[in-house]
Amino acid sequence: MNGGNKDLTAEVAVIGGGPAGLLSAIALQAAGVDTLLIAPQPTDDHRTTALLAGSVTALATLGIWPACLANAAPLKAIRIVDDTKRLIRAPEVAFTAAEIGFDAFGYNIENRHLSAALYARANELKLPHIAAGATAVTCERAGVIVSFAGGTARVRLAIGADGQRSISRTAAGIGTQRRAYPQTALALNLAHGRPHADTSTEFHTESGPFTLVPLSGRRTSLVCVLDPATAAALAAQPDAELSAEIERRAHSIFGAMHVEGGRGVFPLAIETAQAFAGHRVALVGEAAHVVPPIGAQGLNLGLRDAATLAELVAEAHRRNRDVGAADVLGRYDALRRADVMSRSFAVDMLNRSLLTNFVAAQGARGLSLFLLDRVGPLRRAIMREGVTPAASQPRLMRGEMV
Ligand SMILES: Cc1cc2nc3c(=O)[nH]c(=O)nc-3n(C[C@H](O)[C@H](O)[C@H](O)COP(=O)(O)OP(=O)(O)OC[C@H]3O[C@@H](n4cnc5c(N)ncnc54)[C@H](O)[C@@H]3O)c2cc1C
Repeated sequence: MNGGNKDLTAEVAVIGGGPAGLLSAIALQAAGVDTLLIAPQPTDDHRTTALLAGSVTALATLGIWPACLANAAPLKAIRIVDDTKRLIRAPEVAFTAAEIGFDAFGYNIENRHLSAALYARANELKLPHIAAGATAVTCERAGVIVSFAGGTARVRLAIGADGQRSISRTAAGIGTQRRAYPQTALALNLAHGRPHADTSTEFHTESGPFTLVPLSGRRTSLVCVLDPATAAALAAQPDAELSAEIERRAHSIFGAMHVEGGRGVFPLAIETAQAFAGHRVALVGEAAHVVPPIGAQGLNLGLRDAATLAELVAEAHRRNRDVGAADVLGRYDALRRADVMSRSFAVDMLNRSLLTNFVAAQGARGLSLFLLDRVGPLRRAIMREGVTPAASQPRLMRGEMV
């Protein structure tokens, strides 16, 4: 949808075409809700996403997964190695998906492939798309007006999927709590000599995790959490030097490593919106919460936001109710709170236990990993909770349409 001045109306506008926004828009369009996507064309993103089993089920339910599969690598096992030089070190712990009856904990996929599969499905469903950013969002009593270059859209509900610097969130008057960490993530992809055996390996270091996650073939994605100066210095190195340094830090577990083009540097922070919805705006993904890239939580939470919201909105639509009404938004906020807060807390605690020089905290982390290694029921409960969180199982994550 392009060209000319437009004054459009729709039931719902989704602002932002990252994965959380696209999943929301596709789920609503598939449910017959009059939906409009307002999003500029995607930019280069060399990151990858470890999609946990529930997210994969949601993508399959909406007909998106077949286009992802050829570029997705299964995560059949996870190894955690304490690579700190500290007095109290945790034992190495390994988990396999087979222990809880799963083929894989999930799949790792490059964001560019995930985005292409989402856009392909949106096109198949003929989702109306304004290929421009929203320039203003105005909340009124009976609706929301979203402005973009060349026109406006008047809707009952705006879904703010516009990322960390969300203008939708600001328009709804929703503040955030934010704390920056003294850490930066360096993210890149590599090719290597030996197979990764579908195993994700996480080295815990004093500056944060160094996590290698399988990609298809003899390739792996790396998220390396460092102090900001070291991250900047490594990111500026020529390919050959950086490859050698990464291989050294990875203890050569996959043999010789060669970094691919495209490196990303991400300062780490944790941020949570004070409310996930208000004034006819509902927030999904990083507009609602940002967590550090530790333990593959961020987008998995974002996709659960999208699935939960789509379910509530589709239900209101089927009952001929106002999809942006306060009770719909109130239910959304209530349904997402426990999941988002518990995951944010867990990621924050793990990260802090690595950074601290406080021996008791190091001991607690070591003890937790020791118990996870030795106590079977606890291990299996934690693994199941990671893959299918008790606090949030929206329909799409259970294989049902919204
Ligand atoms: C290094 C790294 C590794 C990660 N690995 C994982 C992982 O393995 N598993 C996991 O679950 N999560 C992971 N995450 C987190 C994950 O990448 C994010 O949670 C996810 O990208 C957020 O998706 P989103 O759709 O909410 O936001 P975004 O992807 O940020 O998309 C927001 C979109 O909104 C658009 N936008 C902004 N302003 C406007 C506007 N005014 N109008 C219209 N559009 C607008 C932007 O162009 C963008 O396309 C990782 C993060 C990092 C930094």
